[in-house]
Amino acid sequence: MPAEPIFRLPTRHLLGIEGLAPPHVDAILDLSETYVETSRRAEKKASGLRGRTVINLFFENSTRTRTSFELAGKRLGGDVINMSVEASSVKKGETLIDTALTLTAMNPDVLIVRHPDSGAVKLLSEKVRASVINAGDGQHEHPTQALLDALTIRRRKGRLSGLVVAICGDILHSRVARSNILLLQVMGAVVRVVAPTTLLPAGIERWGVEVFHDMRRGLDGADIVMMLRLQRERMDGGYVPSPREFFHFYGLDRDKLARAKPDALIMHPGPMNRGVEIDSIVADDLDRSVIQEQVEMGVAVRMAVLDLLTRNLQGNEPPGGVPAGSGR
Ligand code: ASP
Repeated sequence: MPAEPIFRLPTRHLLGIEGLAPPHVDAILDLSETYVETSRRAEKKASGLRGRTVINLFFENSTRTRTSFELAGKRLGGDVINMSVEASSVKKGETLIDTALTLTAMNPDVLIVRHPDSGAVKLLSEKVRASVINAGDGQHEHPTQALLDALTIRRRKGRLSGLVVAICGDILHSRVARSNILLLQVMGAVVRVVAPTTLLPAGIERWGVEVFHDMRRGLDGADIVMMLRLQRERMDGGYVPSPREFFHFYGLDRDKLARAKPDALIMHPGPMNRGVEIDSIVADDLDRSVIQEQVEMGVAVRMAVLDLLTRNLQGNEPPGGVPAGSGR
């Protein structure tokens, strides 16, 4: 029997969910499952990135994403360097592109980039030889967050297709919402957004989602309740009255959650504002909240993405592969 072809992503970079088809998503999630197992072993090492150099380049704060990319790269045997922008020449006025070109001269294989401006990561990807992973650009996309959310859901519910997912809160400023909407729709889920009009992007009706302004109606019969942080750093005016009032209408508490399915999962990408968009009682509910599981899945998904992208780089042929379309 001929060997199955090695699965490859269609592009050198992962800049967004846009451009990924269901077989790509399935293959990433299938490979991530393997890395969940690896990460649960005492000996957590794999070898897909042996000899490779990965640079974490974060122009915006991050706890989970930066750490989990670092762990992912190290568990795959790569050399991972964290570039602290605070300490770099960027503070002295070096431009994004100059920074990228300087780093490229050091021959990294993968650049993982977070930037406050939408589109900045794509711009950078056009100037460098390395594979670029978007770790969040402004309000635009955060593809690995959507992939780790999908993995968390698929492991708990066994599928994505047909599920009703309510994404609630600050949709306007959220790259997590955008990437999740794209991914969940491509995988056949029904996506609802629940927010006040001030926190919804113009033209949201054209995104193919169901729009709700009333939280209880929006959660009615939902399988997944995904909460978002109020992104105050991206707000330049009065988008919401007071945090207290926001919580009253849009904060997830037991009462509002009662409208969702009895086995609905509670998700949040973090960092959480307890008492603003989510009550601690539901955030810490061990039966329903999968917020910590999302963090664990983040490492596995990032290992899978790093592995798959470096297969596209010259001279890195892995011994085995994930065949396209092998997903559930
Ligand atoms: N950590 C996510 C992001 O970087 C969500 C958030 O910051 O609220 O977009």
